[in-house]
Amino acid sequence: MQDCLFCRIVRGEIPAAKVYEDDEVLAFRDIQPQRPVHVLVIPKRHLTSLADASSEDAAMLGRMLVVANRIAVDQGSPDGFRSIINTGRIGGQEVMHVHMHIVGGQEPVGPMLKR
Ligand code: 5GP
Ligand code: ZN
Repeated sequence: MQDCLFCRIVRGEIPAAKVYEDDEVLAFRDIQPQRPVHVLVIPKRHLTSLADASSEDAAMLGRMLVVANRIAVDQGSPDGFRSIINTGRIGGQEVMHVHMHIVGGQEPVGPMLKR
């Protein structure tokens, strides 16, 4: 995926404020944070969206969930966080490489959706 923004971040071609990395996933700060803690967790291997996920992706998607709390605590959200994965047009996905938002901080994030 030559032109994918997040693949380029994985390859180090575009700078990002990395906060966590292992063999399968990378996490970095969102460029436009919506809360004091706002991190994106992505698989290093390109996957466009959850609409394209298959059982072969189960381990790497599971890893994204498993590392989330450690990242949140490290980044200053010790008492929980919200994890969001937007998918496709209806979900409002803007970057076409699966990513999980981790948002939090010292104050509650608030209602799940605007009414
Ligand atoms: P989506 O709407 O696709 O779920 O979220 C995409 C997120 O990626 C947005 O919160 C946006 O601020 C973030 N983002 C877009 N481009 C960049 C970038 O170049 N670097 C970083 N760190 N975040 C980005
Ligand atoms: Zn990609």
